[in-house]
This record gives sequence, C-alpha cells and structure tokens, in this order.
Amino acid sequence: MTELRRRRLEENQTLFRELNERIGATAAAQGGGVHAYEFVCECADIDCFAGFELPLEDYRRVREAGERFLVVPGHERPEVEEVVERLEGIGVVQPRPAGEGGAEAAVG
Ligand SMILES: [Zn+2]
Repeated sequence: MTELRRRRLEENQTLFRELNERIGATAAAQGGGVHAYEFVCECADIDCFAGFELPLEDYRRVREAGERFLVVPGHERPEVEEVVERLEGIGVVQPRPAGEGGAEAAVG
C-alpha cells in the first residue's frame, strides 16, 4: 500500500467517524439507550454509504475504546486493519501499525 492510499483511507475513515459521532450525539440528546440507531459504514471506500443499526450503547463503547472503526460485513480490510470484535455482524476494526504484516486474528 502506498503512503497516499493509506492517508486517503485514514481520512475517509475519520470523515465517517465524525459523521457517526454527530449521529451518536443526536441520539444521546434524544435519550439514547437500547434503541438502535442508524450509523454509516466507516470503511476505507470513499463511495461506500452503507448503513447499519446499532444500539447507542454499543457504538459509544467502541468509540471509547480508542482508534476503532465500525464496518459492515465484508468491508473489512485485513491487510491494513484487524477485526477485534463483532457486534451483530458489524465488524469492529483497528488499524494495524504501519509496517506490521503479521498474524491474522481469528474472529467471527
Ligand atoms: Zn463500507
């Protein structure tokens, strides 16, 4: 992967994450809780507008865990990110450190 592609990937994920954070903030203002809200896929594909539903609680837990992104099934990029968790099929991915080409985590 080229540096340019990696940067574009990161920028795209950050963009969609910010959008989801706004959705999360709106949901929280409405009371949040167990109701499932519609979030957008945070994968690296700039043309992807796939949505998924997740309870606000789950979303916030992922956000609080740090640099993690939520992607719909099949949108994971194993070469650059590791699936650390699955929430009702939705992948929770964490970017691999640059240069690491190592072990695959078996999740799923
Ligand atoms: Zn996607």
